[in-house]
Amino acid sequence: MRRLLSPAVTQAEVIGIISWVGVLLLHPAIELGIYVATITLCLLAVCRFHHRTANFFMWRALGVIYVVLLTVGFAFVLRMHEELRIFGLPLAIILVISSAILFISVRDYLVCAALVWLIFWPCIPTDSYGDAQIYLFIFCAASVCIGFILSFSYLKNLRSVLLVESEFRELAETDYLTSILNRRAFMQGFDALIANGHSGYFMMLDIDSFKLKNDRYGHDVGDKILRAMATCLKTTKGSHSFGRIGGEEFGVLLLGDDPAFACDFALALLQAIRSSVAAPHNYTCSAGIARFAVGAEMSAVLKNADRNLYGAKQNGKDRVYLEGKRVDPQRCATTQ
Ligand code: GH3
Ligand code: MG
Ligand code: MG
Repeated sequence: MRRLLSPAVTQAEVIGIISWVGVLLLHPAIELGIYVATITLCLLAVCRFHHRTANFFMWRALGVIYVVLLTVGFAFVLRMHEELRIFGLPLAIILVISSAILFISVRDYLVCAALVWLIFWPCIPTDSYGDAQIYLFIFCAASVCIGFILSFSYLKNLRSVLLVESEFRELAETDYLTSILNRRAFMQGFDALIANGHSGYFMMLDIDSFKLKNDRYGHDVGDKILRAMATCLKTTKGSHSFGRIGGEEFGVLLLGDDPAFACDFALALLQAIRSSVAAPHNYTCSAGIARFAVGAEMSAVLKNADRNLYGAKQNGKDRVYLEGKRVDPQRCATTQ
């Protein structure tokens, strides 16, 4: 939300500062005293800090501080220069309505609008309106209402945009059948892990004789097996991430440099897979593991894992290979 609002907020604040400086420069009688100079410097500092701060509450507070500073500045100029007071009413209305886009919450906006009117009211020559003073209240209320509607609908539209964006992102990253990460999202995560200086193990899994299951029992049974496989990946604890990287191929990432951990995880996963679907639709899976060191080349890691997977397939399937050798199924007594 803040990310979407920020550019418009900065632009609105810069316009406010330009207007302030413009008034100072165009009116020959305004002196650049300590008060005016302080307001100008504070406005510049707040605008700059507002754009940069990472703290959300500070960001909200700086929005209010900016509007109050600008209002105090204009109110001071109007008080010092009687002839400018006729601009009091339009100026207050402009400030109240234009500050609607500065806030991430309607409540912040209402607080700010109330402060603007409180500060500005004494500078408006109410007496000169005579019997028509009641209109001042109408303009005051109307400006706050219009600002409220602007702020409310602007924020509501931004929220919808964000919702649609997050839904699209999720769709783009999720495999439709199994609801786990798809190849693109999984590989992006893998790339980011390596780029961030992590090391660990990559495991490539391929369901054994899957085509046979499809041919014998139909594609819907094949799909059921794929979903059961995804459930095993979700329920076998210890992985960093996993995804469907091909038709019946899956990838798992494990962090850490302990090969024993990677082997135990793989054996536990294969055991869970064996019993995840009742006969006759039960299935097995082969796995090839490759280590990835800090700064490793992702394509080389994939090739290594694929070579190990090929070794597992060639030597009987339903097994795990690491560094060209079968991982001893007895090493993990509880899983084999
Ligand atoms: P191996 O043990 O050597 O891996 O043999 P396999 O039969 O598993 O491998 P093969 O590559 O010959 O067959 C993969 C099959 O996966 C072929 C394809 O129809 C099937 N498949 C791919 N995606 C899907 C899917 O989304 N649903 C279903 N039901 N089948 C799929
Ligand atoms: Mg395959
Ligand atoms: Mg297969």
